[in-house]
Amino acid sequence: MTDLVFRARRCVTGGTEMPACVRVRDGRIVSVDPVDGPVGEARVVEIGADEVLLPGLVDTHVHVNDPGRAEWEGFPTATRAAAAGGVTTIVDMPLNSVPPTTDLRALEIKRDAARGRSYVDVGFWGGAVPGNAGELAALHEAGVFGFKCFLLDSGVEEFGHLGPDELVEHLRVTAGLDALMIAHAEDAAAITPTPPGRAYAGFLASRPAVAEDNAIASVVKAAALTGARAHIVHLSSADALPLLGAVTAETCPHYLTFAAEDVPDGATEFKCCPPIRGAANRERLWQALADGLISMIASDHSPCTPELKRFDTGDFAAAWGGIASVQLGLPAVWTGARARGHTLVDVAGWMASGPAELVGLRHKGHIAPGFDADFAVFAPDEEFTVDAAALHHRNPVTAYHGTTLRGVVRQTWLRGAPVGEPRGALLERGIA
Ligand SMILES: [Zn+2]
Repeated sequence: MTDLVFRARRCVTGGTEMPACVRVRDGRIVSVDPVDGPVGEARVVEIGADEVLLPGLVDTHVHVNDPGRAEWEGFPTATRAAAAGGVTTIVDMPLNSVPPTTDLRALEIKRDAARGRSYVDVGFWGGAVPGNAGELAALHEAGVFGFKCFLLDSGVEEFGHLGPDELVEHLRVTAGLDALMIAHAEDAAAITPTPPGRAYAGFLASRPAVAEDNAIASVVKAAALTGARAHIVHLSSADALPLLGAVTAETCPHYLTFAAEDVPDGATEFKCCPPIRGAANRERLWQALADGLISMIASDHSPCTPELKRFDTGDFAAAWGGIASVQLGLPAVWTGARARGHTLVDVAGWMASGPAELVGLRHKGHIAPGFDADFAVFAPDEEFTVDAAALHHRNPVTAYHGTTLRGVVRQTWLRGAPVGEPRGALLERGIA
């Protein structure tokens, strides 16, 4: 097979940005060489002067919902959207699909749904729910990347949440397996029912920062007690940052982009849990990324049908929570990062190598010898305005509709070939 060489004036590699020729053979990177070196017989892919060669992004928080709620989102649509956004690996969440991924049989059903229908590589989280502590070892053995739990009502009845004793019980098991536990951390005791109506402020007040802070404190405590590895998903409350200790955390593009003050009443496309908070909180999240307190960003792509967003009434109490964004994470984060003086090297750390390291994907997230030849070709200075109907995910709803973002993904390459066919691999922890 002829080598491919990607010749880029700007390439994010080795923790910096520099001109480089990236040589690829059989879907893997074999060397990163000087940009003007000899290429021999290789086929050359010229990266444009206004483009940057980035490692393909790794999004470890995607709800595909297929099978069972495929009308919300399915593998073909979610993974096409991912690819169009420069994401070459997703790790699928264990809930909102039916059955949820809480035992081996359900994992096989998930894999059957993804196999031959995915445009990017796909891994899976297992679910930790009441009564399934005995299933975790088998799921771990079968290659899930860790386990997701909720500390309060998940929103779907088939995926229960762990009480304090159950959390400890499950963490003892994951500690024994050296598996990662990731937690949706909000404390029901600090949450009040959302008042019916169109006011975003009412929804926000019903899910205060202290609900996150209390739940995160309890995860930190239980992780310390059991010696388990734990990670907080979709951190919104900056007040919780000093509590994290040895527990890692991710935040999401929407918490870094939007602010509660700007969410229009009735705009339920902005509803998610935990909620988008105020602008001052947002700036503290950016600072925590800069300081390394938050190690990574994942989309929490969680779509539903337009009907469930209740645009007819704009009622925040009745609308389903979740923001669809797997295609937009890179331009959204880059837009905010650039405005605050961060670089594409920072963004690649937060969205490619950081998530890959969290889940132990040893061949993803870097442009370096031995890694998969997964690339996003990104034009960082080009602007575009988001049109929900032009995105590839299943239903044309997103909080980003009408937002002008900077940075366009021009090409996405998966293991040495442009994305174009559903040839995504099903990844297993330890093998991938
Ligand atoms: Zn989620």
